[in-house]
Amino acid sequence: MPPTAEGEPRAAVLPVDGHEDVHRRWTLPADVLGHLDAATPVRVFLPGVARAHVERVAGAVRSLDADGVRVRAAYSIKTNPDPRVLAAVLDGGLHVEAISQLEVGHALRAGFAPDQVVLNGPGKWWPEPLACGPFAAVFCDSVEELRQTVERAVPAGAVVGVRVRPAGVVSRFGVDLHDEPVLTAVARALAGLDPRVGVGLHVHVSPRDVGAAGWWQVVDDVVGLAGEVEERSGRPVRCLDLGGGWDAAGLLDHLLPGLPDLLTRARERLASLAEVVLEPGRAVAQPLAALVTRVLAVRGGPGVTDVVVDASIADVPEIGRSPHRWFMGAPHGCPLPAGSGTVLGRSCMESDVLAAGLGLPDGIAAGDVLVITDVGAYDTSKSYPFGLGDARWPPDGLAR
Ligand SMILES: *Cc1c(COP(=O)(O)O)cnc(C)c1O
Repeated sequence: MPPTAEGEPRAAVLPVDGHEDVHRRWTLPADVLGHLDAATPVRVFLPGVARAHVERVAGAVRSLDADGVRVRAAYSIKTNPDPRVLAAVLDGGLHVEAISQLEVGHALRAGFAPDQVVLNGPGKWWPEPLACGPFAAVFCDSVEELRQTVERAVPAGAVVGVRVRPAGVVSRFGVDLHDEPVLTAVARALAGLDPRVGVGLHVHVSPRDVGAAGWWQVVDDVVGLAGEVEERSGRPVRCLDLGGGWDAAGLLDHLLPGLPDLLTRARERLASLAEVVLEPGRAVAQPLAALVTRVLAVRGGPGVTDVVVDASIADVPEIGRSPHRWFMGAPHGCPLPAGSGTVLGRSCMESDVLAAGLGLPDGIAAGDVLVITDVGAYDTSKSYPFGLGDARWPPDGLAR
């Protein structure tokens, strides 16, 4: 379930649990320390966190290979295409997932080979197909696209498949394999595929929208549909791609630990299954950046402290939709617990509330520095200039 309605901020304060994992750390990442005196607001990439976190994800994914099924993660480039993120992903041995040829070109320049790239989405060949390939996998968004892809000579060794529209979810993406004529059309198209090309099914739905239990139901349903596709097309399903949508804690603490059981169930139904692909975006990128901001003004009465800061919702557009942690910058560096304080953004938007229910320390004053961690995913890629007049973007402080 989404924690709150879209755009409605909440205090995203996690309980102290003593862990030192980068996705739930309770000390200010050391990488931030050199930036506390910088002009604010400033977004800081955290190279140490990037190395440790990507290695941790890569190791956890690798350890799941079992019983002839290889588990792979392909980082979703759109989530944050920063070359420093892609370099960490490449070093960690992950693949990438691209939704346009511009992203493919960006991945190739970052050092990925075409067969380390999974292609997805309705505009994957836009603006011009690059003369490279074969890609690791191509997942078509419609029956028409699948037919066209099958007609094109697909190189041997690649995977071709469709994105499945999950049951019970309203979505503009993919094909509804519960619809008999659609299932028949997909099976027919796949039957015409070069036998050296693998067949795959892809699904992408966020547990934030369907809940964790709902996510597993969706995936089990796709396994069943893959069985139907096999029977009708006469082609074994070689690859299941389960998409992204998890945050770092959800991926590491829930999805990956639950995957071995899923692999067992999937192997019972799909004897030729050889590969399971995950497409983490936010789970990889979220911890990799922090935002340093400064208090502009303090307000409040007895027992209430609110502050206005020089960051705004435009700098951290996901602030109310995904977990973030708040820290005092110098001199404390301490995490801010839950409390009764509110952090207001600098803009004149009613929705520009960056945190509610945050324990701001007594004596907090204009000029004090606050740090928001976990802004490395869509808080970065979807940030936008706002309330800046015609100032250059990003403004001097707000380097990406
Ligand atoms: C955006 C996207 C992802 C990554 O989603 P996150 O929420 O960033 O994990 C993965 N797969 C597909 C097809 C996507 O469109």
